[in-house]
Amino acid sequence: MSFKSDIEIAQEAKLRDIREIASKIGLTEDDIELYGKYKAKVDYNLLKKNSGKNAKLILVTAINPTPAGEGKTTTTIGVADALSSLGKNTLVALREPSLGPVFGVKGGATGGGYAQVVPMEDINLHFTGDFHAISAANNLLAAMIDNHIYHGNSLDIDTRRITWKRVVDMNDRQLRYIVNGLNGKANGVPREDGFDITVASEVMAVFCLAKDISDLKERLSKIIIGYTRSGQPVIAGQLNAHKAMAALLKDALKPNLVQTLEGTPAFVHGGPFANIAHGCNSVIATKMAMHFADYVVTEAGFGADLGAEKFIDIKCRMSDLKPDAVIIVATVRALKYNGGVAKQDLNTENLEALERGIPNLLKHVENITKVFKLPAVVAINKFPFDTDREIQMIKEKCQQLGVNVALSEVWEKGSEGGKELANEVLRLIDEGENNFSYAYDLDIPIKDKIRAIAQKVYGADDVEFTPAATREIENLEKLGFGKLPICMAKTQYSLSDDQTKLGRPTGFKITVRQVKVSAGAGFIVALTGEIMTMPGLPKVPSAEKIDVDENGVISGLF
Ligand code: ADP
Ligand code: MG
Repeated sequence: MSFKSDIEIAQEAKLRDIREIASKIGLTEDDIELYGKYKAKVDYNLLKKNSGKNAKLILVTAINPTPAGEGKTTTTIGVADALSSLGKNTLVALREPSLGPVFGVKGGATGGGYAQVVPMEDINLHFTGDFHAISAANNLLAAMIDNHIYHGNSLDIDTRRITWKRVVDMNDRQLRYIVNGLNGKANGVPREDGFDITVASEVMAVFCLAKDISDLKERLSKIIIGYTRSGQPVIAGQLNAHKAMAALLKDALKPNLVQTLEGTPAFVHGGPFANIAHGCNSVIATKMAMHFADYVVTEAGFGADLGAEKFIDIKCRMSDLKPDAVIIVATVRALKYNGGVAKQDLNTENLEALERGIPNLLKHVENITKVFKLPAVVAINKFPFDTDREIQMIKEKCQQLGVNVALSEVWEKGSEGGKELANEVLRLIDEGENNFSYAYDLDIPIKDKIRAIAQKVYGADDVEFTPAATREIENLEKLGFGKLPICMAKTQYSLSDDQTKLGRPTGFKITVRQVKVSAGAGFIVALTGEIMTMPGLPKVPSAEKIDVDENGVISGLF
């Protein structure tokens, strides 16, 4: 089988003028700031202009994935196009891609096949510069920290306990650990330092949770950059950095408007990590989308155990959002992977492995319908090598257990391939039972919140805390951070914290090794293992295939 690549399909498409796209959601040329013909920024102050539409919010999440991704973005875009084609006023809200994965293993993050947002080359490469602005804001704070120390360190910052790192939007393992401030008195104070990738910066998380520019500033000021020699936290506000940081972010904070291949308007804005941060597009973009459309389709990173849980327990709770329906993307491939098939054998029919993998899907369905009490439908994202018997088996298993299920062929057919799913979503919004709940209350102790997530959502027996984690939890509760929600950092490949435990594991414990507060973002990060905040490139990075010709046409992106 041979198929056109994502970039070939995207480049064949005839894009519409972005002003025409804007007009679909009632925005005039005065309401938007043009970034060329096909991209625009939309001012968040428009939220205040009138009462807005208060759209239905549809969340797209997934089962535990294979390393290749299971098509959440693709499904999000495809179902939005299908809703548009059914005459519904619809907007997509997505994360912006990071250059790290674009040049690394995963490639772009603009959907695939006939369900993409365009111009895909621009969106994947720099876009409107938001991530560079976020890097600049992050690095301004870093420069001000070292400058403060250089000029006498009146705050008594312990140079061995600075937690704030510099960032760059690139996979560059060489920068993980560095020593800087070398070569004598005039050139700074030597210390151990390091870089994270921009999307792992707390500025990114803050940016994506802020309601408006005042809230952004307030959150930036609360960021903890390290500790004094007596162990007191030092915040960005004490260095007077937060206002200039917000100034650097003023344009970035405006959501970016683009279009899908079929001309549905899309906001692509913000992109925090889904492990040490909450992993979804900005609150401002979601709120604006809900203001201007009747239906909003959005995606949360990783599987539902991480992405949907944080979308609900962190983002929805902080911003007063409530999903109206949830789509759980499943693929034959990921179910077989969960049933123990190796990555290289996923294209061969294997009904036994598929059957062994299906409990993973059912656990995610239960989480959405029984823990978060939201109406859910399983979307089977059809890949070219899936056999009819495999698809049929998933459908039958779901139907036997009363789980709503629809086949999605948006990758191959665009909106036409998403109508069954879109109609099911519309039915669920009208008829489905919605008693929206969180996995835990904010009032209970930090350890109990973590336990609630592990037991209810992951199916763990219990949680173990290392002595270091216990000490830090006590410290954070003493410092007044006990009421914050939890951001779990865990492998996305398993419901447990061990990526080799596939399917629906039972009889396991989660180990929390380390805990830290992101005081600006407003959550406590619980780390269950080593989480990489500066990835490296693989032996043959996808960067080696990317090129540009004399007309500025990009090739090799996927
Ligand atoms: P996720 O958002 O879950 O990480 P994406 O939607 O970004 O996944 O898809 C990951 C990759 O898989 C993309 O390159 C996309 O083109 C491809 N893909 C998604 N769905 C299909 C499908 N049904 N058939 C073939 N390839 C697909
Ligand atoms: Mg995605």
